[in-house]
Amino acid sequence: MTLTRVPCAVCEGTDFKLLHPGALDPTLDAAAYFSSSRLSAAYPDIVRCKTCGLVMANPRDDEQTLARVYRAMSDEAKAREAGFDAMGVDASTWMIERARARCPEATFLVGSLESLQFDAEFDVITLWDVIEHVHSPRDVIRRVRDWLKPGGILLMSMPNASSFIAKALGARWMLLLREHLWYFSPDTIARLLPLCGFEFVRAETKFVSFSVANIAVRLAQYGGVLAPLGKLAQTGALKRTSLRFPIGEMNVVARRI
Ligand SMILES: [Zn+2]
Repeated sequence: MTLTRVPCAVCEGTDFKLLHPGALDPTLDAAAYFSSSRLSAAYPDIVRCKTCGLVMANPRDDEQTLARVYRAMSDEAKAREAGFDAMGVDASTWMIERARARCPEATFLVGSLESLQFDAEFDVITLWDVIEHVHSPRDVIRRVRDWLKPGGILLMSMPNASSFIAKALGARWMLLLREHLWYFSPDTIARLLPLCGFEFVRAETKFVSFSVANIAVRLAQYGGVLAPLGKLAQTGALKRTSLRFPIGEMNVVARRI
């Protein structure tokens, strides 16, 4: 298990307060913790930057480990319908193959953001559930800025460390996961965006839709008294019944300066 310490992504501070002690199993590979089919939902130490308040995992998996796990990863693919000429990018070949099958009219590329070259041609770029996974949110948002036309819009979704759900559940918040490196709030993302050439427009609560069976699988990953819930996931009626609710995520709108 290779964990590395990093400075704060917003203010580059190195003075942290421990919020939730981590409990990773050193005998399990990092891949066992990633994706919705994970074997364990434990996480590394979660800390808060004493200077700017950003919540983050520290120490966390190093860049090489993250790249290896994401390249090999397979998970439920998400393709979205929209009235745009759409292009999708993901580091996972499996994800891109699934997305191509579901949305054949769009263009899809396999690769990292660093490997792509565009010249300020997009009106809108979306980073759904991306920024909390990347080694350097500042580098990614700056790079995306170069691909947006002036005044272009960046839409992001991410866990919200100051949400009611995050505060109410504390160390049991379901989004505290090994694959999540950063836990922004409206306040901390609003501090980061101007450093990357964006104006912060607004943050709002994101609602998610999950089948009852999927919720049972997620809860069973915590083990203990919750483990038997995994069996419920086999029930057809529960797979077809969906619930829509907040889990402590936010959507963020930003405009290229
Ligand atoms: Zn900071």
